[in-house]
Amino acid sequence: MGIEEKLPAGFLLSTVENVAGLLQKSSIWPATFGLACCAIEMMAVGTPDYDIARFGMEKFSASPRQADLMIVAGRVSQKMAPVLRQVYDQMPNPKWVISMGVCASSGGMFNNYAIVQGVDHIVPVDVYLPGCPPRPEMLLNAILTLHDQIRHSKLGVNRVAAARAAEKAALEA
Ligand code: SF4
Repeated sequence: MGIEEKLPAGFLLSTVENVAGLLQKSSIWPATFGLACCAIEMMAVGTPDYDIARFGMEKFSASPRQADLMIVAGRVSQKMAPVLRQVYDQMPNPKWVISMGVCASSGGMFNNYAIVQGVDHIVPVDVYLPGCPPRPEMLLNAILTLHDQIRHSKLGVNRVAAARAAEKAALEA
């Protein structure tokens, strides 16, 4: 007889991974990192009107070493790209990235040599958020989408970052 049959009806079975995913997604600390006009909308999610604290995210960390989410809020200049990468590298694993707004995701209206044409050239992106600028509600929706990804990913693993690392290793082999 399997363990499921021995337990009383209604007894909830779960895995350590499921519980860890639930806890992890409930306590994400974004890095304090704004690049342009989109950052104003990002700041708005911390106000009482939008109240990001409802999702366990009231602390925007000033230190990348105490942050596990980078919200790329705005266009990324070529000069800023190495700094952005350095901040990302300083964040502990597992870590996640939301690309907020059309400029961060593709360069947007800034189709020129000074702006990176998509932040995924610099760091792996987990959620792309369209709009110019996206409303705070849209950012909250992107965060909930990310929570869902974290909830269902393997313990301690960021799927996008792992796939990018494997891709890089294959290219170098
Ligand atoms: Fe500014 Fe719009 Fe670009 Fe956001 S998407 S950085 S609001 S121009």
